[in-house]
Amino acid sequence: MEKRPFVAKEKLEEIVREYPTPFHLYDEKGIRENAVKLKEAFAWNKGFREYFAVKATPNPFILKLLKDYGCGMDCSSLTELMMSESTGFSGPDIMFSSNNTPADEYRYAEKLGAIINLDDITHIDFLEESIGYIPETISCRYNPGGLFKISTDIMDNPGDAKYGMTTEQIFEAYKILKNKGAKKFGIHAFLASNTVTNEYYPFLAKVLFELAVKLEKETGADIAFINLSGGIGIPYHPDQEPNDIYVIGEGVRKVYEEVLVPAGMGDVAIYTELGRFMLGPYGGLVTTAVHEKHTHKEYIGVDACAVNLMRPAMYGAYHHITVMGKEEAACDHKYDVVGSLCENNDKFAVDRMLPEISKGDLLFIHDTGAHGYAMGYNYNGKLKSAELLLEEDGSVQMIRRAETPKDYFATFDFCDIL
Ligand SMILES: *Cc1c(COP(=O)(O)O)cnc(C)c1O
Repeated sequence: MEKRPFVAKEKLEEIVREYPTPFHLYDEKGIRENAVKLKEAFAWNKGFREYFAVKATPNPFILKLLKDYGCGMDCSSLTELMMSESTGFSGPDIMFSSNNTPADEYRYAEKLGAIINLDDITHIDFLEESIGYIPETISCRYNPGGLFKISTDIMDNPGDAKYGMTTEQIFEAYKILKNKGAKKFGIHAFLASNTVTNEYYPFLAKVLFELAVKLEKETGADIAFINLSGGIGIPYHPDQEPNDIYVIGEGVRKVYEEVLVPAGMGDVAIYTELGRFMLGPYGGLVTTAVHEKHTHKEYIGVDACAVNLMRPAMYGAYHHITVMGKEEAACDHKYDVVGSLCENNDKFAVDRMLPEISKGDLLFIHDTGAHGYAMGYNYNGKLKSAELLLEEDGSVQMIRRAETPKDYFATFDFCDIL
């Protein structure tokens, strides 16, 4: 599918006059429309709830938008809990899906009344020591190990993932938790990441629903919810076909009716913890071409770098690039589009065919709405950019200012050399 930015060149030029590049721009309309679709796709399940994976786009303005659709928040750290709390989420609005969890984070989650999702069987004792008791509602994270395959396609490798309990452990964990007073149980699993297929969720659902039936039978635990977690992907590459969330919702419903309903478990709530699917396509990194270099290769230097978007450097991930105003021009130039870090993997694109780029051109790097700004860091002392929200009426709101050197030096405030 052809990829077009959600913002026109003239609008972007207007924005750039007020807010210098680079910045991440989010599309309120796209975020809202997508959230509605997810809700509709799972409307057949009475208890359905999306717990947005805060780590994907940790910005209170974004969290607030999602609140309008009844979303809860999926947190995995102290500051994510704090951000959710300050944005008005509390109690069962928050799912705490952490791993290798520090005791003070369990205490904070407990204080908020969040639903705690245990990553490991040893955390039963650890949680009890940390907060003094076992909550009535508790969830366990499952990892069946091996390769996660849909027919012959390898989707991911849970056997190599640090998360979750084995099959044996989750049965044991439920029994222990029940003895310690837990009354309502959840199952959680995240077995494949960024899946661009409508089959992942229904397939995962089948695994978890069958497990749920066995768990309830064997341990007598009351299973209240099944959390399909994240993993629904987005088409980063124009050749990829996007997922159809309605087909996915319908696929899960079918398995629900085949497995859970006949087992008398037709009241189990389905939860999701999507991050990428909720925000990915509705954010773009806007950057200006500032240098061109002709050596062994052709380079375009832009004013953003891996600090603003780490996925290409970290995973070799593809992010589509539109040269604003040159959408119809022939892609007859081969470029490496690079940032300014002293790291040769600081490249947004390698050997990419693009229209001829001139200094001053605006580049729109697609699909940075999730795991984009959030993964940023400060290597080379580079500062993180602003985040802007393009509102439905066309106005622009700065939802996070850019860092200044003062922010970078703030952690030296205990001494007086600076
Ligand atoms: C990262 C993460 C998610 C979200 O993953 P996406 O790929 O963005 O959908 C959900 N749940 C947990 C526990 C995670 O760690």
